[in-house]
Amino acid sequence: MNIILLGPPGAGKGTQAQKLVDGRNMVQLSTGDMLREAKTSGTEMGKKVAAIMDAGELVTDEIVIGLIEEKLDGPAGGGFIFDGFPRTLAQADALGDLLARKGQTLDHVIELQVNDDVLVDRIVNRAKEAVAAGGTARADDNEESLKVRLMEYYKKTSPLIGYYYAKGDLTGVDGLAAIDAVEASIAAVLDA
Ligand code: AMP
Repeated sequence: MNIILLGPPGAGKGTQAQKLVDGRNMVQLSTGDMLREAKTSGTEMGKKVAAIMDAGELVTDEIVIGLIEEKLDGPAGGGFIFDGFPRTLAQADALGDLLARKGQTLDHVIELQVNDDVLVDRIVNRAKEAVAAGGTARADDNEESLKVRLMEYYKKTSPLIGYYYAKGDLTGVDGLAAIDAVEASIAAVLDA
């Protein structure tokens, strides 16, 4: 079973993806994690995307589609969780084509529904917690890039809600509920 977790930054996609990895042996494909890894290890691609990511803008479709394509040939476990991908209509079309070419299906698109005030608080807190734990906050977890990230979401990614609704793939889940409750709502969709 392959699924997409859709929602703005701070909606809880990463948290819920981890639950699905632990509970169902699914494989999380987070383009954000892949790009951060490329940035840290200093690959050519990593250098190219660093400033774009830090500013909160989207990197090119070509780059992220390439990253996903590579992973689709790797271990699938209990299925793929697309986390933070697709983020544009072009990426959504490309994902559909890639899956079809590999004889795979997209089974559910789960939209984590939240409100914007909560997102800002969550992301600011995520940054504070990372620092309190002795680490460093994500370079893009600051108010300036957060504004850009939200705007990118509304301009480029939120049209995917209509796109997947029209395809009959979309289910909305209350992303403001407690983590366990969100997990249960997602489980209910996957097990229906
Ligand atoms: P995330 O960890 O999903 O919030 O992603 C962090 C950053 O990586 C985003 O703000 C973008 O700069 C970049 N990024 C991640 N996934 C994508 C994607 N599917 N398309 C374009 N840019 C992406």
